[in-house]
Amino acid sequence: MSVAIVWFRKCLRIHDNQALSWAFESNQIKSILPIYIFEEEIDQGTTNKMNENRLRFQYECVLDLQHNLHTKLGLKLHIFSGQAQPVIQSILDNFEEQRVWLISEYCSDRENIEKQSQIETKIIDQNLNWFTKTFSAGHTILDIESIVNSPTYKPPNSMNDMTRIFSDEFGDWRNIVFDVTDINPSDHQPKQCQSIESEFSTRLEELNSGPPPSSYFIGGESAALQRLKKKVILEKEFVRNFSKPSSISTNIEGNPLEPTTTGLSPYLSTGCLSVRRLWNVCSEIQQLSEHTKPPVSIHGQLMFREMFYLLSKSVVNWDQDQGNTHCKEIEWGVTEQTLLDAWESGETGFPLIDAMMRQLDATGWMHHLGRHAVSCFLTRGQLWQNWTHGRDIFSRKLIDSDWALNNGNWLWLAGVAPFSMPYYRVYNPCPNQKSSLNVETETANFIRHWVPELSEFPSKHIFEPHLAPLSVQQLAGCIIGSDYPSPIVDRKETRRQNLERFKQNLAKLR
Ligand SMILES: Cc1cc2nc3c(=O)[nH]c(=O)nc-3n(C[C@H](O)[C@H](O)[C@H](O)COP(=O)(O)OP(=O)(O)OC[C@H]3O[C@@H](n4cnc5c(N)ncnc54)[C@H](O)[C@@H]3O)c2cc1C
Repeated sequence: MSVAIVWFRKCLRIHDNQALSWAFESNQIKSILPIYIFEEEIDQGTTNKMNENRLRFQYECVLDLQHNLHTKLGLKLHIFSGQAQPVIQSILDNFEEQRVWLISEYCSDRENIEKQSQIETKIIDQNLNWFTKTFSAGHTILDIESIVNSPTYKPPNSMNDMTRIFSDEFGDWRNIVFDVTDINPSDHQPKQCQSIESEFSTRLEELNSGPPPSSYFIGGESAALQRLKKKVILEKEFVRNFSKPSSISTNIEGNPLEPTTTGLSPYLSTGCLSVRRLWNVCSEIQQLSEHTKPPVSIHGQLMFREMFYLLSKSVVNWDQDQGNTHCKEIEWGVTEQTLLDAWESGETGFPLIDAMMRQLDATGWMHHLGRHAVSCFLTRGQLWQNWTHGRDIFSRKLIDSDWALNNGNWLWLAGVAPFSMPYYRVYNPCPNQKSSLNVETETANFIRHWVPELSEFPSKHIFEPHLAPLSVQQLAGCIIGSDYPSPIVDRKETRRQNLERFKQNLAKLR
């Protein structure tokens, strides 16, 4: 009889968890040891990779996992702090003479693949009693490894490519319902809880350095399933009519924090929500009547997600601006720290950009078209900064931060990838109601909320306040240049220069 160590990595949930289900279903498994390894060094409530919000969100996800494992499955989550390899070694040292399975979900990013392979060669292979098992499609719909290794695989660059891949894999995939397993402990032989000793053991409370900053999204599977119900299951018309390009980027009128899209990305990226569960719910709703289709539907968004997972696994140097077949090597020139700082802190003097960046800072989330606006502005639009700087800032701050998706979307918006929009389609950072950024311009309540300096400005001037007559600024109690920054660049002039630079760069690359 064996022990199953279930290592929770990117699937911080108990629903549709293949590794956990296997441990319950397998007759050879006598006891289950669920583990979570926190690998980041915490300093003042942040880590190198995560700012306060992201760290808090992660903490809440693990706390909720611990609670659900205990109350629903009678298991105790063991939490460790340290590098994965020595931690796993210290756990396995408790089982020298016993058969042990280390089971987890497949992670497709380079860092985790290297980690997994080192654990296998340096630890597991050293003891004949120890085995590993990895479940291939825990975090994605597709089995990423098997698709990119198939002889007919070509990196997908469009929704057409993705529909082809889905058809090859699933046949008529359009409203397919995937198998999703949920564990009912009473259906299986009882499993024992295992106790172990490790110098790396820690309690979750020790990882939480102080009261969490206030934020809109709460981490964890429970919050994920509640949001799924509120935004998708109970909103059938919303699902049927979902059309991403026409969703409003400035959130719900009356609630400047609530997304007009599902707002499920923080839960998908941490695996608190199974992507198959979301897909299935949409399929079931769509089967009933007319509905939008990919690329604009929710299914379409999930297929973009799969596309970036495939690309991030198959494109060498996916996160680099050099030696990456999916990145044109544009000469971005020197990094201008003052511009970057103004962009990051929401002090550019462009209210839409500043509102979006302040929302990111406060909540860890931003609407997709908001991300379009700020990434275009930072790169080919106005500031001419290398996209990797913006990628790094997003990665630290986004509670939905995802290596495959963040890099893919930055490549897209910087205009350097095969799937990018044409480089000359630059967004106006001072939009009117016709802008494809879908900004609510009539009340401009989103701007008033996130840039309170401008709360009394008339809507007519709020997107370009430095052009308002002084009398208007005085009446609004906000003098541009002293109470709120003047624009850090001339938007029209920088746009013109940057289009020219981009064109010249492309000519050199030909
Ligand atoms: C510069 C930039 C960086 C981004 N970085 C990330 C990131 O780190 N993590 C992340 O999850 N998304 C990222 N996105 C994609 C997208 O903006 C978010 O997934 C989306 O806004 C999340 O909101 P939602 O859950 O309401 O999305 P919905 O529109 O409700 O879509 C449902 C799900 O589909 C997936 N999805 C939606 N749009 C995309 C897309 N363009 N690419 C890939 N998957 C998508 C997400 O998992 C999302 O939760 C980025 C976009 C840009 C432009």
